[in-house]
Amino acid sequence: DTLVNQIAAGEVVERPASVVKELVENALDAGARRVDIDLEEGGVRLIRIRDDGGGIPSSELALAISRHATSKITSIEDLEEVATLGFRGEALPSIASVSRFAISARPRGEDQGARLEVDGGRVGEVVPHPHPEGTTVEVRDLFFNVPARRKFLRAERTELGHIEEWLRSLALARPGVELRISHNGRASRHYKPVRDGGERLRRVAEALGEDFTRQCLAIEHAAAGLRLHGWVGLPTAARSSADQQYFYVNGRAVRDRTVAHAVRQAYSDVLFHGRHPAFVLFLECDPRQVDVNVHPAKHEVRFREQRLVHEFIYRTLHEALASTRA
Ligand code: ADP
Ligand code: MG
Repeated sequence: DTLVNQIAAGEVVERPASVVKELVENALDAGARRVDIDLEEGGVRLIRIRDDGGGIPSSELALAISRHATSKITSIEDLEEVATLGFRGEALPSIASVSRFAISARPRGEDQGARLEVDGGRVGEVVPHPHPEGTTVEVRDLFFNVPARRKFLRAERTELGHIEEWLRSLALARPGVELRISHNGRASRHYKPVRDGGERLRRVAEALGEDFTRQCLAIEHAAAGLRLHGWVGLPTAARSSADQQYFYVNGRAVRDRTVAHAVRQAYSDVLFHGRHPAFVLFLECDPRQVDVNVHPAKHEVRFREQRLVHEFIYRTLHEALASTRA
């Protein structure tokens, strides 16, 4: 079933950034407070993600890399209200089928860690291996056995850029998690953990720069079972561009046309004409109101009540923006 996994990999793993995304999401699902991301050659040569989360018992390592094995949901009812970032159980087997892969881990309470290597889908033996509490996944030579895919990889800088952009988006959503990133042996980013509340803006400044935080408006509004919070850039901000648009639904970064339209509409009705608004916005709602199982990469969602969501976002932002002009 290496072939089945490679086919799934076509959907889940587009480029190094998708691997980083899946692995870091697993770390967060495991409760990690700190994640170290080491990269070489834009992630093509090496992606190593180490976390201090719950780890994996040695007896479950082989299961973790087998297809549709997820420890996160156990019934179709759970799928109605997914609380974790992962739930499809296909990231690890997919990634392992198109790389030289290794996973090492130690859960709390076990005194010996374990390691399992997979070479282009060929699964080795679980062996004892020293490891601190948590999990490390190493992905080398991505697509080494899928030349057609490899051909589509871009320059090191471009692939690194995609990874950094995704990590920036994550850093905004998880301010309490420490993220260290290194590339070709050199430290490239360090997002220090901040506490919830006022300190969150510090993380935003680290991720987006002070041009944004110096002239942004805080948003906080709840009604009808929906809550919108975060920051929107004001038109005076030196930079306001399409690449500073971050939207999250229940903590998951999503691209959604309903949302994008509501935001753009509120801006253009109050302030801007033809400029791209910059924003970092979080929508919280009942998980049953939103379907995240639309696409294997999970960056699309479907709202049960699309009109209500559009209206709520539009009104909240319209009111907040209009108040700055009073
Ligand atoms: P999913 O995240 O959809 O469950 P994955 O293929 O990404 O599927 O991971 C499979 C399983 O491996 C997870 O359900 C989890 O039990 C385990 N796992 C993967 N990465 C980690 C990690 N960093 N820490 C702890 N457990 C992990
Ligand atoms: Mg996962």
